[in-house]
Amino acid sequence: MKTLIQEVDVKAAGTLTLSIARGPVPEGSPPPTREDYEAMDWLPVGTQVGFSPSKLGKLWNGLAKLALHIEIPTSKDATVNQYGDIQAIASKVKQALAEIKRISEGTLMSSGMGEEVSFECICGSKNKRRLELLKEGQSINCINPDCDESYDYVQSDMSFGRRTFGIVCRACRASRDIPKRIIEKLRTDQHVHFDCEGCGETIYVSWRPMQAQRTKSPKKAWRDQSAVGSLKPL
Ligand SMILES: [Zn+2]
Ligand SMILES: [Zn+2]
Repeated sequence: MKTLIQEVDVKAAGTLTLSIARGPVPEGSPPPTREDYEAMDWLPVGTQVGFSPSKLGKLWNGLAKLALHIEIPTSKDATVNQYGDIQAIASKVKQALAEIKRISEGTLMSSGMGEEVSFECICGSKNKRRLELLKEGQSINCINPDCDESYDYVQSDMSFGRRTFGIVCRACRASRDIPKRIIEKLRTDQHVHFDCEGCGETIYVSWRPMQAQRTKSPKKAWRDQSAVGSLKPL
């Protein structure tokens, strides 16, 4: 929910009412002014009841602490209560129910309003973003949970560039781009492997610590750094 609010829409969890004007704006008429809009007759379509993700998180943690987990004894002599405190649990459950009831009274779930940009990921999923929330160079993960693709937003032409990691086969020099997120998600004790499309050899990729050292002039250190090893097959 936090990601949705930060990246997709600030009003995703806000309270709002959507209304529609009773009659359309006559064709060919000048764009309506604020006064024109205020004078129109509006019919409410529905209301979204807002909620705070952090408040819900606190309720969840409160319930978990009181009722979902068994007490851990501090020493072997300590007695473990099999059941939680009924009054404390009842009070927390009532608080949670009141919040759930309040949210359930909404008649609308909107994804907010505002200008939208969209692009199609190479997996075929359509990704949509609220324009006002996009920042230059921001990385966007594909909305498809099974997809590892991500994109960098380029503000100047409102485009999305695929984030990839270029791999060149040491045997046949064939190159291919693999999604950067596959590498970023790798733990240091893991590796990914795939077969080269050119010669069929298996290529392994893993994280490796690298050492760089500053020697003599800073200028030379830069040259040295670029010469420090590259990722080698396991
Ligand atoms: Zn995708
Ligand atoms: Zn190859």
